[in-house]
Amino acid sequence: MMDVVEILKELIKLPSHETSAEVVAYVSKVLDEGGVQYDMHEGHRDSLLAHLKSAQTSSKNRKTLLVHCHMDTMAPEDGLSDHVPSIRGDRLFGLGASDNKGSVAALVAALLRLQGTDLGEWEVLAVFSGKEEGVLQFENPTMTLLKAGNLIADAAIVLEATCDDDGNLGLCVGNYGLLREEIIIKGRSAHSAWPQEAVSAVDIAYQFKKEFDSSFHSNEMSMQLPGELGRINVKPLESITEIFIGEGAGTIPGSGKLTLDFRIPPYEGDRIAARDFFDRAVASIEDTLKEICSTVYATWKYRPEIKRTSHYIGYVTRDVGLIKIFQDEIASQSKQGGMEVFVAPGRSDACILVNELNCDCVVVGPGILTSCHAAEEHISVTVLRDFVDLLSGVVQRVASSK
Ligand SMILES: [Zn+2]
Repeated sequence: MMDVVEILKELIKLPSHETSAEVVAYVSKVLDEGGVQYDMHEGHRDSLLAHLKSAQTSSKNRKTLLVHCHMDTMAPEDGLSDHVPSIRGDRLFGLGASDNKGSVAALVAALLRLQGTDLGEWEVLAVFSGKEEGVLQFENPTMTLLKAGNLIADAAIVLEATCDDDGNLGLCVGNYGLLREEIIIKGRSAHSAWPQEAVSAVDIAYQFKKEFDSSFHSNEMSMQLPGELGRINVKPLESITEIFIGEGAGTIPGSGKLTLDFRIPPYEGDRIAARDFFDRAVASIEDTLKEICSTVYATWKYRPEIKRTSHYIGYVTRDVGLIKIFQDEIASQSKQGGMEVFVAPGRSDACILVNELNCDCVVVGPGILTSCHAAEEHISVTVLRDFVDLLSGVVQRVASSK
């Protein structure tokens, strides 16, 4: 049987920042050799769906555990790692080692190990998604597969980096929601020899930024995690991520654009209450932006326009059973004391699975969080190997559960 470290080294060699076709070809070859069944979905940005079924899986009681990972990486530029795998000590280096090819390798290795084992009434649906990094939900292959009726789940695990620098694996039980807004600034341009004729977009943007900073404070709030997991502190996050102003020296710019990014913590109530909470948070942010625009207008007599470009609700899982299975399995392997649960301010494909498929979901993976999208990207070989044991053990525990 192929070793997970060898699988990861091969995956790192295959570029997947533009298309995941080469990774799909390699994964399908390895699955073929292990006798694991799969379908290709080339129309969906090169995704692959693998299936593990048991002989006694009756269609009536059949339940599906969906395990999801994305195969694409960042582009190999800006000082990021390259496609040449190398090992130093316990660290395996290479582009995508942590985000997310370590997860891909672990899922392939777990499927090979689980092939032919008794899964009771459960079926494992392994989703290798062609693209996730930087893709909005409407063109995301997970969403496409879902809309085409290819995905079902009674429980779901999304594999993404959740390991800290010391090799402790965390269990992510929720993601923040996202809101993006554009602020279109209009003033009056003029030749820089006659500045008195201009209402500069730079000046308007400067005031907007000052008002923005004083209007949003990111106060911490406390939220209840499901079951006995207790309360944690979360806080809304906001930032200005882009400013485009000015096109040529000699002209004072009369227009510009700012992009704003808001991260909204999920709400612990049921789905309807959570949706309501998110909608009210979005409305309250937009009201504040309108007030800022009015203040800016009072000074410059030009009112910035607000345009919502993207918004997506976060989630917190209610599947306490799945969280407990992870904690029990890691305790039984006695590799570490327990698994810290947390809610991540970023978002992942888990948001889509939870909100569109209406199943519960946890996010976990052997990748190192601080190594994702960073120079010298690497993963711990020990954590990677242990993770294959953990994932296989969790699948078997799920299969023997009701
Ligand atoms: Zn990722």
